[in-house]
Amino acid sequence: MNVQPKASHYINGRFVEDEGGRALDVLYPATGEVIAKLHAATPNIVELALEAARTAQGSWARMKPVERARILRRASDLLRERNAELSRLETLDTGKPLQETLVADAASAADALEFFAGAVQSFNGELVDLGGSFGYTRREALGVCVGIGAWNYPIQIAAWKSAPALAMGNAFVFKPSENTPLTALALAEIYTEAGLPDGLFNVVQGFGDVGAALVSHPVTAKVSVTGSVPTGKKVMGVAGSHMKHATMELGGKSPIIVFDDADLENAIGGAMLGNFYSSGQICSNGTRVFVQRALHDRFVERLVERTKTIRMGDPLDENVQMGPLVNGAQHAKVMEYIEAGKAEGATLVVGGNAPSMQGFDNGFFVEPTVFTGVTDQMRIAREEIFGPVMSVLSFDSEDEVIARANDTEFGLAAGVFTRDLPRAHRVIAELQAGTCWINAYNLTPVELPFGGYKASGIGRENGTAVLGHYSQLKSVYVETGDVDSPY
Ligand code: NDP
Repeated sequence: MNVQPKASHYINGRFVEDEGGRALDVLYPATGEVIAKLHAATPNIVELALEAARTAQGSWARMKPVERARILRRASDLLRERNAELSRLETLDTGKPLQETLVADAASAADALEFFAGAVQSFNGELVDLGGSFGYTRREALGVCVGIGAWNYPIQIAAWKSAPALAMGNAFVFKPSENTPLTALALAEIYTEAGLPDGLFNVVQGFGDVGAALVSHPVTAKVSVTGSVPTGKKVMGVAGSHMKHATMELGGKSPIIVFDDADLENAIGGAMLGNFYSSGQICSNGTRVFVQRALHDRFVERLVERTKTIRMGDPLDENVQMGPLVNGAQHAKVMEYIEAGKAEGATLVVGGNAPSMQGFDNGFFVEPTVFTGVTDQMRIAREEIFGPVMSVLSFDSEDEVIARANDTEFGLAAGVFTRDLPRAHRVIAELQAGTCWINAYNLTPVELPFGGYKASGIGRENGTAVLGHYSQLKSVYVETGDVDSPY
């Protein structure tokens, strides 16, 4: 299998190589085979990308929003036309099954481009009546924005960040995770084909040091990171020391609360989606599943039955529902957490192994795993695992479960399953989480803002809220009378 792109980076509307950069081998996580060989950016590549962005941004920002929108919409159409090939590439890059990538990756990127093409056209400043005189506000682009991505949703992250940034008149430089560098390059080609002027969307590859160089560069006005809390803290520190805008989409340890009046099958379906989709490598996963005591045993019994039916295997087979983790390091980390769960006294009720599959002997597979009897202090209930490991905890009362759900440094997401809707809204209002679901889990339509409370993040992606985070507000006072000066 070979999906070697024309070059490692995409700058000013074309592919660019610099073999002086550190080697970066791309693995297919299902087999461990090298499918592309790239180079991390050198300081020269970082300079070229930021300079291309800086040069292109001014005239882009002066275009009418409707003209910018037309280009984004064309790019959205191209993403949809090429969904099959982009999904295959995303599967090879991430190991996520084609069954998922066909519906959740390039398709979600296309939604973002289409949505922000529309939303930006009515995202205006306001007119303020000052009693005779008046004021108005303008929403102006920030300039050059940098995006730094995680490995789990590479093309979606690139689009969720670049679409609102470009719609608002900014230029963009994106650094994908070094684990998954391929589909951002495909997105760059599509932007160019759709008519995006050169220099407005650039991709540079690299490790954390390249991300750090992009963030601290004087040309960069804003950074948006999707990654772990430790990385977010580092980047936020650098951005703060240079007084730059920053959005942080970070990790979580989110609660799903299942009351005993919930629809059992729906609650189990939500909990499985919130733990096993993308092999559990989703920031908003509900990895602490609190089940009210009267329902607990029936919930666990059906959960185990349904978990055993998950088809794991060849990610390119559309019948397969679960693929491997992204790489060996993540695989080792998840297996270590499974051992920690056992050692701390949780009960392993299903999964827990690293299966070896014919033809995929070197793949990074971990079975969908459920622990019961988990207590709040166990590591598997406190730390983000980023793998298919669900912890089931039981509870008695509403007040108790709210307090336990909130007892974490994270605050990305939360879900509540109940047929009692007043209770659902009451509980959601008390949960310290930025992205919540009632009787559903992990649905992230681009129309709704997405992001976290507490250590899970600052700022928002999606919805019209994100347009505020890719713009700055200018206030203009207009005098209609004489200047009232005491001098
Ligand atoms: P990391 O935090 O390890 O990396 C995120 C990105 O930041 C990578 O591109 C990384 O490069 C880069 N980076 C690392 N150090 C620096 C630095 N000092 N300055 C600038 N950039 C840097 O996250 P992962 O890629 O491991 O992704 C998993 C994490 O992402 C999980 O915690 C998960 O919860 C979170 N996540 C959050 C989401 C959200 O929207 N809230 C969505 C998806 C994931 P490199 O890879 O080369 O180290």
